[in-house]
Amino acid sequence: MKNTFLMRVLLCLCLICIYFAAILTPLSSFADDSIAQRKAKLTREVQTKKKMVALTFDDGPHPILTPKILDLLKKYHAKATFFVVGNKAEQFPDVLLRTYQEGHEIGNHTYDHILGKQITADRLQTELEHTDQIIKKITGTRTSLYRPVGGYCNAIIMDKAEENQKTIILWSWHLDVRDWQLPPANYISSKIIQGVQPGNIILLHDWISMENRTSSPTVEALEHILAYLKKNGYECVTVSELLFEAQKKLPNLFDPK
Ligand SMILES: [Zn+2]
Repeated sequence: MKNTFLMRVLLCLCLICIYFAAILTPLSSFADDSIAQRKAKLTREVQTKKKMVALTFDDGPHPILTPKILDLLKKYHAKATFFVVGNKAEQFPDVLLRTYQEGHEIGNHTYDHILGKQITADRLQTELEHTDQIIKKITGTRTSLYRPVGGYCNAIIMDKAEENQKTIILWSWHLDVRDWQLPPANYISSKIIQGVQPGNIILLHDWISMENRTSSPTVEALEHILAYLKKNGYECVTVSELLFEAQKKLPNLFDPK
């Protein structure tokens, strides 16, 4: 009798567990789908037949390497987008100002360059706001572009981008040369030259390793990349210009306040 009662209790517990597992599983997979669907919509490149690409440089401004990149861009009449780290922009405001004055676009790459896996919504808000304020103080403009550190995106990062009216900009994966790991310059240039297609967003880094670094494989490779693009009829435009080409939508570049 006692055993039968125990069996019934166990059976009931099992049924309750199965019931909750059944109703919770579709919910969690729905939530995953929704994040995956949102991630799939993020900008990695744009669809266009026009020979246009966006070169992007992350993690600067760097006091020596960024000016070298700016000189090369000027030589080839190319425009680029610089996703700056707030604390570097604060340290090297003249370099950021020159970048802006020479017609390049500035994007937000957070203040402390912390990988977003554990970041809280509050911390990310502070990081984005602080960097926006520094960019505004130096250039007088507000950026609508945000590149999450390492390209890592979760719900907090995507929600915060929306709340701050920012477009998340990733990059064309097939052209990712991981130049921050200092591969040979000819690896960087040949991978990009062989794989480039109209509408691609190319990720490179102007800040690499240390402040007193005077050369980088990226700078060395850039001249070959720019020469190839020019010779083959590619125009190097800013990310907003590339987005406009694809969506015919003007970017929100100016602070409405
Ligand atoms: Zn970065």
